[in-house]
Amino acid sequence: MEKKHTVSIWYVLIGIWVVLIIQSYIASMLAVKTIPYSQFMNSLKQGKVTEIAISQGEIQGKMKNAQGALEDFKTVRVDPELSKVLEQYNVTFKGKIESTFLKDIISWVLPVFIFVGIWYLLMKRMAGKQPGFMSLGKNKAKIYMEDELKVRFTDVAGVDEAKQELEEVIDFLKNPGKFGELGGRIPKGILLVGPPGTGKTLLAKAVAGESGVPFFSMSGSDFVEMFVGLGAARVRDLFVQAKEKAPCIIFIDEVDALGKARGLGGMTGGHDEREQTLNQLLAEMDGFDPKVGVILMAATNRPEILDPALLRPGRFDRHVLVDRPDKVGREEILRVHLRNIKTESDINVESLAAMTPGMVGADLANLVNEAALLAVRQGKKLVGMPEFQEAVERIIGGLEKKNRLINKDEREIVAHHEMGHAIVAMSLPGTDPVQKISIVPRGIAALGYTMQVPTDDRFLMRKTELLNKIATLLGGRAAEEIVFGDISTGAHNDLSRATDIAKSMIKEYGMSSSLGQVYLAHDRRSQYLDLGLQEAGDYSELTSQAIDGEIRQIITGQYKVASDILKEKRDTLVKGARLLLEKEKIDRGEIEALMEATRA
Ligand code: ADP
Ligand code: ZN
Repeated sequence: MEKKHTVSIWYVLIGIWVVLIIQSYIASMLAVKTIPYSQFMNSLKQGKVTEIAISQGEIQGKMKNAQGALEDFKTVRVDPELSKVLEQYNVTFKGKIESTFLKDIISWVLPVFIFVGIWYLLMKRMAGKQPGFMSLGKNKAKIYMEDELKVRFTDVAGVDEAKQELEEVIDFLKNPGKFGELGGRIPKGILLVGPPGTGKTLLAKAVAGESGVPFFSMSGSDFVEMFVGLGAARVRDLFVQAKEKAPCIIFIDEVDALGKARGLGGMTGGHDEREQTLNQLLAEMDGFDPKVGVILMAATNRPEILDPALLRPGRFDRHVLVDRPDKVGREEILRVHLRNIKTESDINVESLAAMTPGMVGADLANLVNEAALLAVRQGKKLVGMPEFQEAVERIIGGLEKKNRLINKDEREIVAHHEMGHAIVAMSLPGTDPVQKISIVPRGIAALGYTMQVPTDDRFLMRKTELLNKIATLLGGRAAEEIVFGDISTGAHNDLSRATDIAKSMIKEYGMSSSLGQVYLAHDRRSQYLDLGLQEAGDYSELTSQAIDGEIRQIITGQYKVASDILKEKRDTLVKGARLLLEKEKIDRGEIEALMEATRA
């Protein structure tokens, strides 16, 4: 999601004001003293005037002042006959030039116009990148309209299925009139569903870009904190504007903020506003004929909390899944973003994709950007593989905090803990190879990490693999216990992940011998997200106890597996930890060498 800037009209006014101040300052600097004609005549008679230049209406020149210094002066000519007469009566008289109004206008107003003109042109160019600028002042609602979007389908990678589903929408928008005649079912509302940063907004923009139609966007969350009635008015406004510009796309980001099922999350209070806004949206959706060519697109990562009314036929009845990219998808996304930077020729995009499992498009865009910044900081012209690797590490673990002080004891514990993960992983068959171990603290939570890179993306896992994963996660704590006879809080995250896996094994995958092949996780309405509601399963208290028992059994069993491995390889563990303390980071080659050396 981009943050939109609103340039306030105040900046314009301040700009004009500054120009005026500078103008008048310069004018006063350059001003030549204008004296009455009579004074000029007197000075002339006294011999003070040294030089003059005569133009039609004015005389300019230099005269000596009281101190004898030369001074510029200017006077307006007066009819010679008349001036002779006037002189006799000792009158102070001066000429007056009709009006300098035009001159003033030109010298004052023109620069202002030029200034405003340049500013306007600049802003117009920026408007392409900064959506919504042109709607400045028209309405206060955060509705952004973008015309002639340059985003194309080729800019969105790794979401081929979603693109395929949206092809039809593009066909329709290109020619809304014809579409109906040919008997195509006209789409109206499309819900893009997927985790944040997977490119939902980008995809919606690409649809607009491909079909060459205007793109209206607003965020559902913008309506939440507003006064009652305003949100509804804005929705109405949005539809009025959109219909004027049809064919076009209306995109509502974070539609869940607006379309939360009524009655859900009642703790926050003040839902009248949201409900009104939602009702208005529903009314607008029902009220327009799809043939006008307005397509609604909305994005959410929590489809299960949406009000069912939004999903009814004729509303957001088409759902397009925009999921996390797999390895090939990540590679494609990286290639899209690599187009924008200059890289060395030996960039291995495939291995970068392999190093970034779980990352979404936004992370990958960030990664490329980070690598480019690193190269700049090092004064390099081309971005090379080391920068990308560093960027991967940064993004995975938060920023490297080299100067963060951890005391020696803590470092010891972290080193053995990480080594424990690594050794258990390397000793069990079918686990992902350990790519790197680090005890450089990153971010807030992680004091160290062991990075395992899957060889492939996996969609199926065998039971033994899951068990091995749990053992690997518990290897950190087991190592601490074996070496120090004591355990630390550092295993907090490991324990939670191990428990999650064990829980899924029992409740979702039917991998328990005593409970059998039963599915016990019915309250999970969707795979992308759990609801945050209390897990109230439709099973008995007895089953619940059995589940707990099974989970505990799996964890205890795998802890023993990890412990046994580490006891046997205590030597490797201690040597590895020492190496880690010395080098802070060790990579796959070094770990394998270590395992090899201590095998005998
Ligand atoms: P969402 O709307 O799903 O939260 P965005 O569309 O706002 O995600 O994505 C943010 C940025 O991440 C995009 O502007 C783009 O640079 C990058 N990005 C995300 N997904 C993709 C993708 N599939 N292909 C290319 N770039 C992507
Ligand atoms: Zn750990």
